[in-house]
Amino acid sequence: MRHRIAAVGAGPAGLTFARVLHRLDHPVTVLERDPAPDARPPGGTLDLHEKLGQLALDKAGLLAGYQALSRPEGQAMRILDTDGTVLRDWRPRPDDRANPEIDRGQLRDLLLGPLEVQWGRGVTEVVPGTRDGVLVHFADGRQETFDLVVGADGAWSRVRPALSSATPHYTGITSVETSLDDVDTRHPDLARLIGDGSVAVYGANRSLVAQRNSGGHVKVYAKFRAPLDWHTNPDWHMDQDLRAGLDAGMDANLDLADVEAVRSSLLALFDGWAAPVLDLLCQGAAFVHRPLYVLPVSHTWAHVPGVTLLGDAAHLMPPLGVGANLAMLEGAELAESIAAAAGSGDLDKAVRVFEEQMWARAGRWAEITAAGLERLVSSDPAQALALFDEVQSS
Ligand SMILES: Cc1cc2nc3c(=O)[nH]c(=O)nc-3n(C[C@H](O)[C@H](O)[C@H](O)COP(=O)(O)OP(=O)(O)OC[C@H]3O[C@@H](n4cnc5c(N)ncnc54)[C@H](O)[C@@H]3O)c2cc1C
Repeated sequence: MRHRIAAVGAGPAGLTFARVLHRLDHPVTVLERDPAPDARPPGGTLDLHEKLGQLALDKAGLLAGYQALSRPEGQAMRILDTDGTVLRDWRPRPDDRANPEIDRGQLRDLLLGPLEVQWGRGVTEVVPGTRDGVLVHFADGRQETFDLVVGADGAWSRVRPALSSATPHYTGITSVETSLDDVDTRHPDLARLIGDGSVAVYGANRSLVAQRNSGGHVKVYAKFRAPLDWHTNPDWHMDQDLRAGLDAGMDANLDLADVEAVRSSLLALFDGWAAPVLDLLCQGAAFVHRPLYVLPVSHTWAHVPGVTLLGDAAHLMPPLGVGANLAMLEGAELAESIAAAAGSGDLDKAVRVFEEQMWARAGRWAEITAAGLERLVSSDPAQALALFDEVQSS
């Protein structure tokens, strides 16, 4: 029996889900809010793990395509002290395929392939249990009904309220992002500092990470502990751990759209760090503020026939290299379960079994990443180094 299946969201979760169903010859409708694939910048690079994201691509028949595009050398990781001393300089072996990097845009195009995504179809609400199935409301006022709606619509999911009252909460750590183009030609010193992969510098309650994407593009992330309204909060200077930065001239009423004001505030916040490291903040043409939100660890819900969630919609966690991996593997596994259930007709049982499996695995990763974020942006920067060593030796 062919069920009417909809995936809401064309991110890593929704596209992998749809691509595996497509491979298994099962129809699926992909509903995406963005008006076109390139409607907004696709974001930075993703490392896909052998037993998670790469396994999902294998299930989609796309592993060779990924291997052709990905950058094994991008796994390299250098850690510096705030004075610029190199503390670790890890490089992968040439045949290391554990976590090669791929640009998000490249991954999206690989997954899209023959899929016919319905662009510009923002979902506003999902109502399960109607006479004809699960009712989907769209931003343009239209409605459609499906047998199964899979919410793969990310952190601020509009499908999730049909299952759970959980909403993302702020971790207390924010991130300000900038980027550099053509780094090898325009900023050769920074290119050397970053190397083939990433460079990270950890200080008290703050860090700077620069990561190479393909084509000489680099993303720089400044992370620090601060209240959500740090840029306009006059009391923020009461935080002793960040006192040094403020004393050095941090703007207490910062306009986040003012590039030079953000730059000088960040430079104040990282005051005293080595000049070549601070140069990472001096070259970008724009800054994007991204406070880090998470869903509660081990988020689950009472099963509701006809609706489920994948990826960030189900288990938003700190960005420590697993979110897209889990999202993709879940997408692939749910697609396989649905295709298998098409024979028996018991779609609901297949979804229930999938959810139990997803919750168990995602819960473990949510704990690991929550603890990891606390150590990476910690009052004791030695914690970050210790975490790196533990991961390397595991
Ligand atoms: C800085 C940073 C670095 C990261 N690095 C890594 C990494 O190296 N490795 C890794 O595994 N993970 C990484 N992550 C996490 C990863 O980005 C996410 O976990 C992953 O993108 C989740 O995929 P998703 O498909 O569930 O959601 P998303 O990627 O958020 O995709 C959701 C899609 O749904 C669409 N949508 C949203 N609302 C609606 C709606 N109402 N109707 C229709 N469509 C809608 C959106 O437009 C989007 O296309 C990183 C995250 C950040 C912030």
